[in-house]
Amino acid sequence: EAKKIGGNSFRFFSTELSERRQERLQLESRLYQTVDARAFEIALQPIIDLKDDHIVGAEALLRWPQADGSYISPAEFIPIAEETGLIIPIGDWVMEESLKAVQRLRSQGFPDLQVAVNLAIAQLWQTHLVERIVSLMRSLDLPASALKVELTEGSLMNDIERMEEVVREFRDAGIEVAIDDFGTGYSSLARLKSLPITTLKIDRSFLNGVPEEENAVSVVNTIAHMAYNLGIQSIAEGIETEAQWQILQEMGCPLGQGFYFARPMPEKELLALLLMQAEAGQRIASG
Ligand code: C2E
Ligand code: MG
Ligand code: MG
Ligand code: MG
Repeated sequence: EAKKIGGNSFRFFSTELSERRQERLQLESRLYQTVDARAFEIALQPIIDLKDDHIVGAEALLRWPQADGSYISPAEFIPIAEETGLIIPIGDWVMEESLKAVQRLRSQGFPDLQVAVNLAIAQLWQTHLVERIVSLMRSLDLPASALKVELTEGSLMNDIERMEEVVREFRDAGIEVAIDDFGTGYSSLARLKSLPITTLKIDRSFLNGVPEEENAVSVVNTIAHMAYNLGIQSIAEGIETEAQWQILQEMGCPLGQGFYFARPMPEKELLALLLMQAEAGQRIASG
């Protein structure tokens, strides 16, 4: 009896496993095709000056459109792109498209706009990464201040010497460097001080419970003040309510991003929003 059950459950298990493997292989092969066809899209999410809620820049977020009109989340396919090495051509594409987008927007009356581009750890190992970005920016006639790169806290902890080297190269080129999802990894204060980063993005998990829970508020407050004392600009991620905006403002957190202000959107919608903001004297918060 026991043997029979074992046999059946093994068969069941292996079928399920191969189905999952097949799904994964299909996903990978479609990812390859999408890279070939350059069929990704970029959504831009406004980054807001919390004092007066005007847009200072936008984060470029990768979108993978599907035949049925839906999108597969980057949280799902970026890890696969990293494992397969596809993150390199994808990352190059994102950088080029993001710089072209910010170039177009700047030339349409928003000359100070900055784009923030996420970099995966594998990209940081590319030789001449910074050099190539700098020459791309030069060819688009963009100053270094038009770009900020975002590195996750996890990647910064990966190979300390290499990460310091890359961050320095970006800084020497005048390009701002942000630590993304700050607070989700294990970086210490000492580590922060040793890197010439310019910006810290407070992970949106910290905004859960703000402003209702005293502890949640105090953690965010501590991070924002620590950053301030280190001369680092902070950006609060995932602002979803007016109350959160209010309290971050009171804390003196300079910048923010979140659904309360705006969702990630296509370039032409961002342009429309920028134009509206310019006309209406810079207010965009709508709730
Ligand atoms: P991230 O860099 O931390 O980007 C912010 C994520 O938070 C985005 O998710 C954005 O849509 C979401 N978000 C913004 N405001 C709110 C809010 O108020 N509430 C909630 N619930 N979410 C908010 P998205 O676009 O799904 O991207 C997920 C992650 O995928 C990104 O996190 C980033 O780590 C990665 N990613 C996206 N695009 C790229 C890319 O071009 N290259 C690389 N290497 N990674 C990327
Ligand atoms: Mg980011
Ligand atoms: Mg982030
Ligand atoms: Mg995040």
